[in-house]
Amino acid sequence: MNSQQFREAAHAAIEEIIEYNETLPTRRVLSAVTPGYLAPLLPSSAPTCPEPFSQIQPDISAHIMPGLTHWQHPNFMAFFPATTSYPSMLAELYSAAFTAPAFNWLCSPAVTELETVVLDWVAQMLGLPEEFLSKGEGGGVIQGTASEAIAVCMVAARERVLGRMLDKEGLKDGTEEWEDRKGELRGRLVALGSEQAHSSTQKGAIIAGTRYRSVPAPRQDGFRMTGKNLRDVLERCKREGKVPYYLTVSLGTTSTCAVDEFEEIAEVLKEWPDVWVHVDAAYAGAALVLPEYQHLTKAFVHFDSFDMNMHKWLLTNFDASCLFVRRRHDLTSALSITPSYLRNTFSDSGLVTDYRDWQIPLGRRFRALKIWFVLRSYGIDGLQSYIRNHIELGELFHSLVKGRPDLFSVLTGPAFALTVITVVPKRPQQMRNASKPDPRHEAFTNDFTPDAEKQALLDANAVTKEVYELVNSRGEIFITSGVVDGTYTIRIVSANANTEEKYIRRAFEILVETAEEVLGKGEA
Ligand code: PLP
Repeated sequence: MNSQQFREAAHAAIEEIIEYNETLPTRRVLSAVTPGYLAPLLPSSAPTCPEPFSQIQPDISAHIMPGLTHWQHPNFMAFFPATTSYPSMLAELYSAAFTAPAFNWLCSPAVTELETVVLDWVAQMLGLPEEFLSKGEGGGVIQGTASEAIAVCMVAARERVLGRMLDKEGLKDGTEEWEDRKGELRGRLVALGSEQAHSSTQKGAIIAGTRYRSVPAPRQDGFRMTGKNLRDVLERCKREGKVPYYLTVSLGTTSTCAVDEFEEIAEVLKEWPDVWVHVDAAYAGAALVLPEYQHLTKAFVHFDSFDMNMHKWLLTNFDASCLFVRRRHDLTSALSITPSYLRNTFSDSGLVTDYRDWQIPLGRRFRALKIWFVLRSYGIDGLQSYIRNHIELGELFHSLVKGRPDLFSVLTGPAFALTVITVVPKRPQQMRNASKPDPRHEAFTNDFTPDAEKQALLDANAVTKEVYELVNSRGEIFITSGVVDGTYTIRIVSANANTEEKYIRRAFEILVETAEEVLGKGEA
């Protein structure tokens, strides 16, 4: 493809992308294809002769579009959002044009330096403590995902604690004795996360080759990790001769958007200085753009790292996970290996940042560009009103649900635009007394026997699951479910870039109609 052909093809592609965005609401949010739909539609091997773009482009609408789940659709209320925007797309175009796996500063100084600048902007915008800025000992780095950020921090934490333990034993770095002892000690290390922490913490422990234990975060604590529950687990580890070295605390858990008790946790950990604390704020961290949420960052000064995905709620296309550390030396001392072919005078001078030492891969994309374009195009004001609007839409959805206690019960929320609900089964008691509260919620005053209560939970789970499956099978809206402490739940997230009040109201109507249908069937 030459420049003229690129010009024509790019115009055609951009026109199609604009048309796609503008017609999104008319599409079915969920794909209706069946597994294996694509291969029979395509040739069984790559073409021998070159094809012009005019022949390639129509296959997007013919073969790819039908197999897309439309994450930008206003009726996409599932998982957490993965938003994008035109400024972000434009930056990706430049990034593709400049392609440079800029692992060292020298590979493309602008790639490294823009990343340092925009991550400082992000840290300030989110109200993170000064310690996480690059002017001191800290700094930010863009990772692919929140899971990658956790794995990186866990490996750094492991190396940090093992280094300290070996130093105490007086062993000399690099000797065989040192290596053997390091292997033995590693078997005692334990990574921790709450029961409600995202599974990436458990996966990180597999990658780091250490043990994993979870800290209870029960319903009565609002699914939050408390200082007391953490202390119990730490003490149990100690009694068993294990060494806790890493902890994920969550700002917005996946199931309910719970926020762990940061201050209490920081207080407990004063007695455990070797535990690296990582704040997983993958989705909800975006709300820190709002001053009214920034009190949450107060305790972070005691923690080691923080990560938030710009690619979830902040209009930046996948991938852009912003990891900040309090001491960048912790990352570089764990992950820096410099063979002769990577050496250069700039790196040797110590005056430049080589982000390859802050991550797992060597090469890296120019992702700072899209964050830069987004921050400049929207401004902090624009991002604040965008997030505030979603939070208000979450409150609206919550108030609609509260208006139908005969059909729905709220398990948690609205929290960061997430409301978690269950469908209320029609029980004989309830039919006699429609205002009877659901047994799974705080307001419940128990006049059931334990067996009846158990049965009520099973009934509630069954109807909630049925409603959820029916809604998604019809495909007008896309929602996700979850099981929290034995309760089957439906999660509704009002944080899609294209969400508006009318879509939230319509989603509620669909839920009402479906719940009435399912419950009515039971009655007939
Ligand atoms: N942490 C939390 C709280 C999440 O909700 C998720 C995913 O939704 C993740 C981590 C993992 O995100 P990623 O896909 O960026 O690894």
